[in-house]
Amino acid sequence: MSASRSLDLTAFPRYPLIEGSTPIQHLSRLSNALGDVDIYVKRDDLMGLGGGGNKLRKLEFLIGEATAQGADTIVTVGARQSNHARLTAAAAAKAGLACELVLTRTVPRYDTDYLDNGNILLDTLLGARIHDLPGNADAMAFAMTRADELRQAGHNVYLAPLGGSSATGCLGYAACASEILAQAHDARLTFDRIVLPNGSGGTQAGLVAGMAAMSEDPTRVVAYNVLATHENTVSNTRIKAAEAFALLRPGMMLPEGSVVVEDGQRGEGYGIPTDAMREAVRLLASVEGLLLDPVYSGKAFAGLLQSVRSKVFAPRSKVLFLMTGGLPGLYAYRSAF
Ligand SMILES: *Cc1c(COP(=O)(O)O)cnc(C)c1O
Repeated sequence: MSASRSLDLTAFPRYPLIEGSTPIQHLSRLSNALGDVDIYVKRDDLMGLGGGGNKLRKLEFLIGEATAQGADTIVTVGARQSNHARLTAAAAAKAGLACELVLTRTVPRYDTDYLDNGNILLDTLLGARIHDLPGNADAMAFAMTRADELRQAGHNVYLAPLGGSSATGCLGYAACASEILAQAHDARLTFDRIVLPNGSGGTQAGLVAGMAAMSEDPTRVVAYNVLATHENTVSNTRIKAAEAFALLRPGMMLPEGSVVVEDGQRGEGYGIPTDAMREAVRLLASVEGLLLDPVYSGKAFAGLLQSVRSKVFAPRSKVLFLMTGGLPGLYAYRSAF
């Protein structure tokens, strides 16, 4: 029984960055206020390193792969307020690797909080070198050129993709799927739905691949796209989920229709605040004392609230929301609130 609930990931090099399991908590005040649905949160914002957040799960496998390859430097890409960039800098510091971040000004915010506070302040404290690119620049092309330069200077460089969402990075969320099932089993709970934001897709892809590899229904995992369009998010996440599944179950195919994404919360674009996001951030903060972020979890939680209010869930459903972190974003978005 427990064999199907656990995944053997020992074949993949893993650099430990997280202590133990993150807690699952019941939001009783919010659940009572909303009515007939029980809302739980998986606290992936509660991790000790570098302020924590979902990217640390991916980085356990990315840094594992980097150190197995003998890397001395890690280079990655992101938006100016990337949480992935900040946590890559933190993980690199802990693992003793140099870190370079290629950050683009893709989000149309030009105040000093957005440009210099939040994650940017932390990136520099964590010792990363920042390459500041305009919004229309090709960050990955720049990162590859920079990696070549560093290699020519004698460095062994590991290049991590946007959001850390390679198949290797997705393994961190396959591990999380197994962690969630084990915690649900211990608490005698069954979650009808697991809700989360989808940016670069790796978090959902890993959860989906992990669930499918444990013969659990992956369509219980429902994400809201906050970065790309719905169509592009689904196709990108399907590809990543299939790649991660192939690592876990070689020779087997991920079932069709495993990736479920709900549209309607992205608003005008990535990193652009919506009224529903503001309401969700304020509600969870004032009713439960929990802090969402303005770019990812705030928009996804707004989607969850909308589903509950429009009675999408059967009475007494148990819904688990994945809190993915991103608190420094609130400081960067001061002027949005
Ligand atoms: C990156 C990020 C996400 C999205 O995860 P992806 O794997 O890129 O889809 C969600 N929440 C926060 C706080 C993030 O930093």
